[in-house]
Amino acid sequence: MQFSTLLISYAEVALKGKNRSFFEDALIARIETVLLNCTGSFRVLRYTGRIYVEAQDYDFDETIEALQHVFGIVGIAPAILMKRIEKTDGVPSALPDTDCIAEEVLHFMREVYVETGRATAAHPMTFKVKCRRVDKKYPLTSMEVDAILGEKILDAFDAFTVDVHHPEILLHVELRENVFIYSDILKGPGGMPIGSNGKAMLLLSGGIDSPVAGYMVAKRGVHIEAVYFHAPPYTSERAKEKVVDLARVIASYTGGVKLHVINFTDIQMYIYEKCPKDELTILMRRYMMRIAEKLAIDSHCLALVTGESIGQVASQTMQSLTATDEVVETMPVFRPLIALDKQEIVTVSEKIGTYETSILPYEDCCTIFVAKHPVTKPRVDVIRKHEVFLEEKIDALLERAFATGEIIDVR
Ligand code: ATP
Ligand code: MG
Repeated sequence: MQFSTLLISYAEVALKGKNRSFFEDALIARIETVLLNCTGSFRVLRYTGRIYVEAQDYDFDETIEALQHVFGIVGIAPAILMKRIEKTDGVPSALPDTDCIAEEVLHFMREVYVETGRATAAHPMTFKVKCRRVDKKYPLTSMEVDAILGEKILDAFDAFTVDVHHPEILLHVELRENVFIYSDILKGPGGMPIGSNGKAMLLLSGGIDSPVAGYMVAKRGVHIEAVYFHAPPYTSERAKEKVVDLARVIASYTGGVKLHVINFTDIQMYIYEKCPKDELTILMRRYMMRIAEKLAIDSHCLALVTGESIGQVASQTMQSLTATDEVVETMPVFRPLIALDKQEIVTVSEKIGTYETSILPYEDCCTIFVAKHPVTKPRVDVIRKHEVFLEEKIDALLERAFATGEIIDVR
């Protein structure tokens, strides 16, 4: 069946009181944008508490997949829409009567369940009609509508039986500004529409964790910009391409990611030359944070995001996190994975489509010069003292890193 309408539900957004129309605008804008890349002609409409897409000549699977990348959407229901009947001579328009609605309901049940073989006389499916009467002028109560339509379905087919408690098919009939008929509800990603909560700078490496962290923050409606620290010739072009590919997956949810590629080799070598080897990772991480913060300020980002989680590696003990946190002065550092186990992170990365890319075996700048026994309990005062060894050249190296940074517009 080619559904003319896709009903969009967006529970969390609907809760937002007076900000509601702002969120709805952001959601509609995102839906319209993703539909531009789908075959077919679409119109996105809004009435109280409902956004729906009128769709013609479209590819169902492609369109659903695109909508499943729009944060803020909780459910997508392929539906039949029956328009209000326009009257003349000053008589207000009215919803169709139950005979007309029943005709469409039978058509729906036949095409969706009987003709597809989902329900047969040998293996009938249980159902229940659930009418919602939002238009209070409708002449019948919702229970009367349920009863009339339920009976018509039972009369017309032997493939269905009624179960009011645990039906396999919950047939929704909504009497609103129009009539909507639907049963299946496909899951959306939830969250809040992109752009409704500002922008953050993600430290994006080629690993499993940071893309997941970026996805989780983006899901809260935050636009994502990213920075990748590249260390040629120790890290290859392939390693960089892998990061671009990961940014592309995030972009499929956010609409686009501005990726800063910062050449980190000279800074890394300088730290390696001047400072205790067991502190290399923590010192590198401090400089990454400083650079990321500067880029974030310039790009009007309101926070940094990393993929760290407590205890995962030496640089992610509580003491190490304190030492990296300390250098960020003007904004919070969000670590959405802080309390997740590796397996939980892997599960999300598989679901969102970054896992296969993340496990490709390219080197990471953090692992190249890493000490055999890195400090696990760095003391901030000691680390600060050792950073003094870098005084002579570090400012010039930072300046060069900013000046030679590359920006890739990932879509
Ligand atoms: P990931 O899987 O995200 O690489 P990880 O477990 O390998 O994480 P680390 O290498 O210690 O952990 O990095 C911790 C965090 O620091 C990463 O999640 C990421 O946010 C940031 N980070 C590390 N290396 C880089 C890099 N080369 N470029 C940008 N950010 C980085
Ligand atoms: Mg890493």
